[in-house]
Amino acid sequence: MSRIDFKNICKRYAPGLPLTINNANISIGKGEFCVFVGPSGCGKSTLLRMVAGLEDITSGDLSIGGVRVNDLPPAKRGVAMVFQSYALYPHMTVAENMAFGLRVLGADKAAIEQKVKKAAEILQLTPLLDRLPKALSGGQRQRVAIGRAIVKEPDVFLFDEPLSNLDAALRVQTRLEIAKLHHDIGTASMIYVTHDQVEAMTLADKIVLLRSGQGVQDHGSVAQFGSPMDLYHRPENLFVAEFIGSPKMNILPGRLVRAEADHAVVEVHGAQITVAVDARRAKAGDKISLGIRPEHLLAGDAGAGSPLHAKVRQMERLGDSSMLYLDIAPDAPMVTLRLEGYAGHSAGERITLRVRPEHGYLFDAAGLAFQRTVQLPT
Ligand code: ADP
Ligand code: MG
Repeated sequence: MSRIDFKNICKRYAPGLPLTINNANISIGKGEFCVFVGPSGCGKSTLLRMVAGLEDITSGDLSIGGVRVNDLPPAKRGVAMVFQSYALYPHMTVAENMAFGLRVLGADKAAIEQKVKKAAEILQLTPLLDRLPKALSGGQRQRVAIGRAIVKEPDVFLFDEPLSNLDAALRVQTRLEIAKLHHDIGTASMIYVTHDQVEAMTLADKIVLLRSGQGVQDHGSVAQFGSPMDLYHRPENLFVAEFIGSPKMNILPGRLVRAEADHAVVEVHGAQITVAVDARRAKAGDKISLGIRPEHLLAGDAGAGSPLHAKVRQMERLGDSSMLYLDIAPDAPMVTLRLEGYAGHSAGERITLRVRPEHGYLFDAAGLAFQRTVQLPT
């Protein structure tokens, strides 16, 4: 049971290359489940491998349980890692695969057997202990790989995209098993890497969203560190706002008309929209971006403020909901509207759109969010 602290952590793979991790400051509490998420290539695995001791740390301090581990070899860090590719030994049974790491360390035979038995029970692998990996499904193999980590009784579990090789249904099932595992062995901290925002939102106590591409130099590579509800309801910047949520948030460029402590009025494509944010650091005339999630746009004439006028470009019906893709102006980005159930709209139809003040997000010209002033879930 250990907390993990990243202090000003930087990683440069070679002189002359840009920083892959730029000044990461993260604290993961004892027993917490922390997810590193972000687009492919943003540095998730790099950050995780630095915790495992598989990758040098260019600068900064990494500590586990209050002890600086930058120079500590992997075996001395109290961590166990589960990879995307299960890498089981094909000629060893499930039990032998799970026991192997402990046998190499010269652990007592009876103790090993006990640990394997307990891990197999947690993972429901008991009936499969004598099988070879080739006689297991993908999900079962991944559970054996997790079992191999459990028997080490680590302080910290490290997972690098452990579900990516599984099909969709199995991913959900194994995701639930990992959540249960965290609950059952609540003393261990977990760091879990994924590119899937649903996995991040459902598993995490805390999320580290890493950004990719341009701007890394200016802003650092951690776009936001917080709880899932922080990232959804209180994104600190446009990158987070657009990454979390599916379909992604609509972003409309406009200008500020009024900037008050508890609300702002913005003009967006001829509509005047009130947003519940603290806008005091801006002034009328400033360029802003208005953010509205597809699930929060309201279609129809009822409601306050002046509406946006839109034309339906395309429709998708998913059964439980319908997606409308809308044009609001020739030069405006396409707007997505999500409606519950069956939507009786058709392409070419004109509709009006409104936004409730508590549903709007506002960002300045640099992409930094204004603080929302309504009560939001934590
Ligand atoms: P992710 O896991 O988020 O997809 P990675 O941490 O694997 O991303 O990689 C982050 C960036 O670092 C990528 O641009 C990748 O090309 C680069 N990178 C990864 N490993 C090395 C390496 N050994 N040498 C140089 N660059 C690397
Ligand atoms: Mg990776």
